[in-house]
Amino acid sequence: MNSIMKQVAELIMNQQPCVALTGAGISVESGIPTFRSKGGLWEKFDPAVYASIEVFRQDPSKYWSIRGEFIRNYDDYSPNAGHLALAELETMGLLRHVITQNIDGLHRKAGSRNVTEIHGSLREIFCVRCGKEYRAPKIPEGMPPLCVCGGVLKPNTVLFGESLPPQALETASRQAGTCKVMLVIGTSAVVQPAASLPFVARQNGARIVEVNIQNAFPAADFRIAEKAGVALSGIVAELKKLPFQGC
Ligand code: NAD
Repeated sequence: MNSIMKQVAELIMNQQPCVALTGAGISVESGIPTFRSKGGLWEKFDPAVYASIEVFRQDPSKYWSIRGEFIRNYDDYSPNAGHLALAELETMGLLRHVITQNIDGLHRKAGSRNVTEIHGSLREIFCVRCGKEYRAPKIPEGMPPLCVCGGVLKPNTVLFGESLPPQALETASRQAGTCKVMLVIGTSAVVQPAASLPFVARQNGARIVEVNIQNAFPAADFRIAEKAGVALSGIVAELKKLPFQGC
């Protein structure tokens, strides 16, 4: 295992820029389960009913009723070794950007600065009527929670049937299309358009490194079949053994 981490460390050192695409798997070691895994959220609740924008517009309490099943209190969760290793890679000048599908905010909490949350963030909540912003965990009680103006509150996350924020999508596509190495971490690579980003990177000549306990991206050039925290901290440790550690 150390030899693959050493190879990936050398790749990152020699082929810049490097960009990471992360998914739910990177946050599992922080205690946040994936939705699709056995016993995951979508086994208990149909996403078409509980997480679609159409249903949210008709009955927002459906969405709000299961929110606590996913993240009870936003501040209870801390970044793990995987998030911290990506933040350290950025500080070392060896990771240009993190594109994440996650809505848990843990990359920013870990200290990563260049982050695009393509599916938004659970922390930000806004009123669909007047646009007033709230920040979890300070949101009004009630089912569904309402703004002071009486409007319904909605998290700033992309529900099924909603388009991705155009600016986030544009940044993610540009980052993917101009990197030389893409780390594809803890994602099943099935949710579009995120799933197409490694292909965009590959078409533009990037090498793809998959970090996943299962093989989800067969087209990867390198595969580390390990938990994200173990793999990413291992890569950083190997990088530190190399003569030059970035700027
Ligand atoms: P997914 O659930 O489809 O896939 C998760 C992947 O992570 C799987 O391939 C699994 O093998 C892998 N994995 C599990 N534990 C791992 C670990 N410790 N280390 C490395 N890999 C591990 O997730 P997805 O592809 O991100 O798509 C799911 C959607 O659900 C996304 O849109 C995301 O926004 C949302 N989601 C977000 C969170 C979060 O914010 N933490 C959690 C669940 C779901």
